[in-house]
Amino acid sequence: MEDCIFCKILNKEIPTEFVYENEDLVAFNDIHPRANTHILIVPRKHIETIKDLKEDERDELLVGKMVLAARDIAKKKNLDGYNLVFNVGRSAGQIVFHIHLHLMSNG
Ligand code: AMP
Ligand code: ZN
Repeated sequence: MEDCIFCKILNKEIPTEFVYENEDLVAFNDIHPRANTHILIVPRKHIETIKDLKEDERDELLVGKMVLAARDIAKKKNLDGYNLVFNVGRSAGQIVFHIHLHLMSNG
């Protein structure tokens, strides 16, 4: 997607260090962290919001993989407790319309 900032990060148009990546998704530090650790887990597939997920195996798997990636990153970083957040829609504070999971921790 042309004007999507996360697609630009994925295409390396905006240089960003990945803290984790696999064939389905990447993870990088949030540019405006709201916790000691604030990482975004971003699928390579452009999907605007959680509302746009398809009821097919591919999207179901993708969301599961996002959660498991967050868990693995947290484990690697020895985080005890953490919050996993999807903001869904502008009124809920979503500003980037390419789905992403916030991993936030102060522990
Ligand atoms: P949301 O409000 O759920 O759409 O979250 C979007 C997040 O993306 C915000 O927390 C921003 O700080 C973050 N963000 C925006 N641009 C960048 C960027 N270039 N690199 C890293 N994080 C970004
Ligand atoms: Zn995108």
